[in-house]
Amino acid sequence: MSRYLSARFADLEAYVPGEQPQDMQYVKLNTNESPFPPAPAVLKAIGAEEAGRLNLYPDPECRVLRQKLAEHYGVRLENIFLANGSDELLNFFFMAFCDQERPVAFPEVSYGFYPVYACLYRLPYTEIPLREGFRLDISDYCGIHKNIVIANPNAPTGRAVSVSEIEEAVRTNPDHVVMVDEAYIDFGGESCLPLVEKYPNLLVCQTFSKFRSLAGGRLGFAFGSPELIGDLDKMKYSTNSYNVNRLTMAAAAATIENDQYYVDNSRKIQENRAYTTAALDKLGFETLPSLANFIFTRCKSVDGGTLYRALKAKGVLVRHWDKPSIADWCRVTIGSREQMDVFLAKVREILEEVG
Ligand code: PMP
Repeated sequence: MSRYLSARFADLEAYVPGEQPQDMQYVKLNTNESPFPPAPAVLKAIGAEEAGRLNLYPDPECRVLRQKLAEHYGVRLENIFLANGSDELLNFFFMAFCDQERPVAFPEVSYGFYPVYACLYRLPYTEIPLREGFRLDISDYCGIHKNIVIANPNAPTGRAVSVSEIEEAVRTNPDHVVMVDEAYIDFGGESCLPLVEKYPNLLVCQTFSKFRSLAGGRLGFAFGSPELIGDLDKMKYSTNSYNVNRLTMAAAAATIENDQYYVDNSRKIQENRAYTTAALDKLGFETLPSLANFIFTRCKSVDGGTLYRALKAKGVLVRHWDKPSIADWCRVTIGSREQMDVFLAKVREILEEVG
């Protein structure tokens, strides 16, 4: 920390993203990326023609892409907001809607960025403990008079709650905003998008980073009432009006036109999830039921940190946190069948080595 940093950030602990090693080739199962490349049409869309227009700023209103999303998801243009990854959407949510009078609540085990934004904006926040087996009990969120963020399916657990449960939290906190972070919704979960028409205090947030194989493009999108979308716009135009770049917009539009490719990939990931979970069961692991493109698993004989380090030494990266309530566990992204076979082979080796 330099002596110039504002005192208001002295205690801020920044988010630590998953490792993105540039030195050697790992079987990379640590940041929930898709193992599948973008559809061929995406590569074409960001080819020389669009790249040749990089001297020009992109459309700050992102009209072409928003129109495509509106048609695809059956909503109106004014219900859609685009951002530089859903991380930026989250940033705008905390910036726009939360303050001393409007505190925010989220699950105690969830996406690690939520408390970082709360600290960044010096917000009062509540981390609501999950119940037994990392289950989210929606009654903990009903009528609490706070803004709420719920990742559904949750990360890193992979567990999901139903749309009707989320609806209870939205309905019983009408004076506060509920943000449902659906980064992992396309791997078997049920989206809250249909509720957006009914509840002006609901934001549903999704990303192109997982299901649409575009983590490197950085694009998130939110559905909400025109009032909430207007508030997010205000944050965007007060920080960076060109927050989505030209190449990413072109790539994203092409993914929508090639939806079946991504639906097929999601099916493969769901099959590989079942395959990996069953194989880990046989090895004596406990794995939570997941509706995401990752699983949360623990080994009876090797603690989470040891397993993470042993796998890394063998060229397989998974994610582990030292936080006491989840230190036994590792989060493993579901990749291709080949990647999962390497992962399982390395796990077997480790189990043999520790006896
Ligand atoms: N929400 C959750 C629950 C996540 O796990 C992640 C990514 N790891 C994000 C949001 C952010 O995704 P992105 O910024 O790539 O859209």
